[in-house]
Amino acid sequence: MSTLRILREFAAVRWTRRLRTRRAIERRQARLLRRHLGFLRRRSPYFRDLLETHAFAGLPLMDKSMMMSRFDEINTVGVRRDEALELAIANERSRDFDADLGGNSVGLSSGTSGHRGLFVVSPRERDAWVGAVLARTLPRGRLTGHRIALFLRADNSLYESVGSRAVSFSYFDVYADMDENIRRLADYAPTILVAPPSVLRLIARAADAGRFPIVPQKVYAVAEVLEVADEKRIASSLRQERLHQLYQCTEGFLAHTCAHGVIHLNEDSILVEREQLDDERFTPIITDLRRRAQPIVRYRLGDVLRPRSERCPCGSALAAIERIEGREGDTLLFRGHDGRRVPVFADLVARALLYAEGFDEYRVVQTDASLLEIALDVLDDRTRDSVTREIHGLADRMHSERPEIAFAPYTPDGSVKLRRVARTWRGDADEEL
Ligand SMILES: [Zn+2]
Repeated sequence: MSTLRILREFAAVRWTRRLRTRRAIERRQARLLRRHLGFLRRRSPYFRDLLETHAFAGLPLMDKSMMMSRFDEINTVGVRRDEALELAIANERSRDFDADLGGNSVGLSSGTSGHRGLFVVSPRERDAWVGAVLARTLPRGRLTGHRIALFLRADNSLYESVGSRAVSFSYFDVYADMDENIRRLADYAPTILVAPPSVLRLIARAADAGRFPIVPQKVYAVAEVLEVADEKRIASSLRQERLHQLYQCTEGFLAHTCAHGVIHLNEDSILVEREQLDDERFTPIITDLRRRAQPIVRYRLGDVLRPRSERCPCGSALAAIERIEGREGDTLLFRGHDGRRVPVFADLVARALLYAEGFDEYRVVQTDASLLEIALDVLDDRTRDSVTREIHGLADRMHSERPEIAFAPYTPDGSVKLRRVARTWRGDADEEL
């Protein structure tokens, strides 16, 4: 950990690396990309071979399974997959994340696609990451004396404390007892609170009940899709003008919210190609222009993003995103009247259910070709009717057959990444889409 490196990145992101126009961003990206490809030619056996015959734009897309199968050739620090996996699993079991491989941090990501992912980050990259995250999160005005509370599912040394007089961090384990966590949190009195929406909801409830009287300066939702309804409710209970978001995954620190609460892509260090999913939504294909230990090059994320049409009032030239809507694999597939599958994006389902009444917690899972399992915390007739009506209305608007609905009781599980809308049925999806 080098404080100097962290500060240098902090200052660059926050003050000196001014990117006021699209042109300035594109010039910077082109320069970083040239340098990065040169590095990959020299140091990554996998990319060395590919770059002999491919230009950047023709490189095959990466994904998690490919990253895992070619891990040893892709990374540039000589880390072997099996060795890294073993260490990452041991770290996870002991929940002690100090052990590393040749100075590099390794960790596992569970993700939602079922595969397990592995990441390697060099000390330099970790410092740059910490600097960038702090630059994007610390409020304007006073920079020192902040107390940052982080609720994390799996810790690792990537998030290791940068504890100093300037900023203190406190970690809360989402596997620990939540009442106890909230008591500790209230004692800590964070100025900045960072947690997944499912955890923020529990804290919001504690605030409603008078068990969390603290008003942080900023509250960040991370790691899960932030639904509109949750956003409003959490903001109001925690007395925030707006909730902020960090879009951060194993593949990189991808986006942040500006002072206006609008999500901006971190295009100062990440190149984002857009694969359109419909007229407005796209899934990002990302290239981290600075990450060298484990190159992320034309990596297809599979998240569904909707760009913002108006310019953000903050004036930033970084692309603005209206919403991060979820995983492409969780897009429901209704059967259209013409027999073809109609993609119904998770956000559309969440929005439809805004109009249904009687429940507080829900989860919608497509478990079969024409079957939705809907779990609700309130299961009386009125609530079922209301939900059924909204889902049918949605199907009608999508010109598709109304799915069958099986209701079930909602069971909360704070330790699992919350997806309110999910699809477990894989069926004929791939052929018909
Ligand atoms: Zn903005």
